[in-house]
Amino acid sequence: MNGDWEERVRVRAYAIWEREGRPDGGAEQHWLMAGEELRAEDAGMVNPGDEAAPGTPGTGEDICPACDGTGTRDGKTCTNCGGTGKVIEGIGGA
Ligand SMILES: [Zn+2]
Repeated sequence: MNGDWEERVRVRAYAIWEREGRPDGGAEQHWLMAGEELRAEDAGMVNPGDEAAPGTPGTGEDICPACDGTGTRDGKTCTNCGGTGKVIEGIGGA
C-alpha cells in the first residue's frame, strides 16, 4: 500500500506548506518533514495538536491551547494533546 503512504505524505506536505505561510520553494523540505511527522504519528508519539515530533529542532513544549494544559475538555480526554496538556510547537524563527 505504498500509494496510500505517498498520498498521506503529499497531503501532509501541503498542510506544512500552508502552515508555514506558503513560502516559495522548500517543497522537498516539506516532503521530508511530512514523512517524519507521519512516522512519528504512526508510532504514537505525536498528538493532533503537536506541530512536530518531540525533540524536533526548533520546537518545544507548550501548554495545550484547547484544554489550557488540563488534559481534559468537558470531562473527556483532550483530543488536541491526547490528555498530556502539552503540545509541541515551533519556537523562535525556525
Ligand atoms: Zn489539550
